[in-house]
Amino acid sequence: MGYDGENLYLGIDEPEPKIVGQCAYCREDIYEGTECFCCNGVLVHTECFGDYVQDEYSESELAGALGFEQKTA
Ligand SMILES: [Zn+2]
Repeated sequence: MGYDGENLYLGIDEPEPKIVGQCAYCREDIYEGTECFCCNGVLVHTECFGDYVQDEYSESELAGALGFEQKTA
């Protein structure tokens, strides 16, 4: 067959990991096997999560999500 060269090329396994998405905080690619948090299709590196949460959510939103109630002591 005339496609031997092409088949040989296609048979090479690229070691590059698969990109599964982009970090919503640092905008860098997230590769398969990377530790990250995921919520409603949003991906964030574990190491970016603290900063992301601080940027994206207000204190009262965070408190509410964690089950805290705002009150005057
Ligand atoms: Zn990140």
